[in-house]
Amino acid sequence: MAEITYFGLLEELEQYLQYQRDLGIQRVEVDRAVLAELAREPEPEASRPMVVEAAAVPSDFESVDAIAAHISACTSCGLCQTRTRTVPGEGNTDAPDILFVGEGPGADEDAQGRPFVGRAGKLLDKMIVAMGYRREQVFIANVVKCRPPDNRKPVREEMDQCLPYLRRQIELIRPKVIVGLGGTAMEGLLGNPVGITRMRGVWQEYAGIKLMPTYHPSYLLRDPSKKKDVWADLKLVLAELGKKPPR
Ligand code: SF4
Repeated sequence: MAEITYFGLLEELEQYLQYQRDLGIQRVEVDRAVLAELAREPEPEASRPMVVEAAAVPSDFESVDAIAAHISACTSCGLCQTRTRTVPGEGNTDAPDILFVGEGPGADEDAQGRPFVGRAGKLLDKMIVAMGYRREQVFIANVVKCRPPDNRKPVREEMDQCLPYLRRQIELIRPKVIVGLGGTAMEGLLGNPVGITRMRGVWQEYAGIKLMPTYHPSYLLRDPSKKKDVWADLKLVLAELGKKPPR
């Protein structure tokens, strides 16, 4: 089982407490072991960018379409049993400025076979337009290509089975910059659990490509006050690309 980092634990606790609050619960019990773990002295994660090399990928995929065709029949993990449609990703496959990587398909994506088409997708569309792009000018993909039941986070084994597709997509597409949407996307890309709250806005690197972590749009739907943080991160992306947001 993958080790949970200090900030990963903190983030999971924060999400759990927000969920409880949304349910109207005002008091929760926290295990002593969790409190002891939180009392540990953390590593300065945000000031220590992670750099990863591209892992081995299936070399027989020679096009993004070939990957999508393979995914459509993939049974490499248990998510194939509950999916309606696979969601390989879509957009500009010819060295786009930006590749957005999310966690996995939700209900709308599972029904349509397209990434980010639900409420979070509408918000991502607005972010893309605010940056001066059209959706079809960027590429949008997820760490796992099939919907986890009840929108749960994909487990490590599911990510490990599915990540070769994303890695090969990145090799073929050759994006100038990758934007990792949320902690799970960053965990998939970097290979370790991360605390997105601390890491967002700090450049990372994936296989020689600049990688900007930021919050997932679905998190912004729950906490709109974080939109300004995401916009700050996206402006760093634009600056890296030598662009300014349109007026
Ligand atoms: S999630 Fe990925 S590895 Fe699992 S069945 Fe779907 S395409 Fe295959």
